[in-house]
Amino acid sequence: YFVGDAQWTTDTVMLKGEQAHHISRVMRMSAGDVIICINGQGVAAYCRILQAEPDCITCQVEESLSSDSELPIHITVAQGDLKADKYEWVVQKSTEMGAGSITGFPADHSVVKWDAKKNEKKHARFQKIARESAEQSERLKIPAIERKASLEEVLKEAQQYDHKWILSERSARKDHHHAIDDALRQLQQTDRILLVFGPEGGFSTREHETAIDLGCAPVSLGARILRAETAPVAALALLVYHVEL
Ligand code: SAM
Repeated sequence: YFVGDAQWTTDTVMLKGEQAHHISRVMRMSAGDVIICINGQGVAAYCRILQAEPDCITCQVEESLSSDSELPIHITVAQGDLKADKYEWVVQKSTEMGAGSITGFPADHSVVKWDAKKNEKKHARFQKIARESAEQSERLKIPAIERKASLEEVLKEAQQYDHKWILSERSARKDHHHAIDDALRQLQQTDRILLVFGPEGGFSTREHETAIDLGCAPVSLGARILRAETAPVAALALLVYHVEL
């Protein structure tokens, strides 16, 4: 279970609300049982339940847990806005695959236009999906869910990355082929990498050129055009294979 700093003192952890309900009612755990708590910043510990109420679980921190479930590289998935159900899928699968953060941005060909009010609700929902997905994958960190105003903003604020790739269906064409293999060969174990994906309608010519002007390497995921929600999973699988397997 992911718990915030406020819930975690040196030797006790308190879980409330949905998490308490899940532990006491769904998992039917009680005093003496052990759960794993994670603070979302890379610290995990075995915690023994002292008291289990339906709305509040109090635990004693017993033993810290060393786990290597985080990737050595930091990957940001920047995704042009998709329909909500597809974007949720990208958040869930990217989290399972080990992404460090997921950034949405309105792309020229995005069908969905988010308004600010809707965004707040959506944002909370995407964060919840990332947390639950990180829990199920036994990760130590929850990916940050972020939002930028445009592709330019994504790329202009990307100085901290060692590599920037635009995953582009255009690169999939044989006359403009950029193998992922070349890009992978340049990766070091602790690098930070930004992957930029287009929406259902793909990138506009303007976006494609802007991305390259702003330092992105065009990278292909093969000769077939993948569904927008498939592309991040395919790219992440290749990166996991390269750095971990
Ligand atoms: N029209 C389909 C849909 O609705 O899902 C396909 C969308 S595809 C054009 C969306 C994005 O997936 C692209 O902008 C690109 O980022 C990525 N993509 C798809 N196939 C790719 C490939 N073979 N190589 C690299 N990126 C790819």
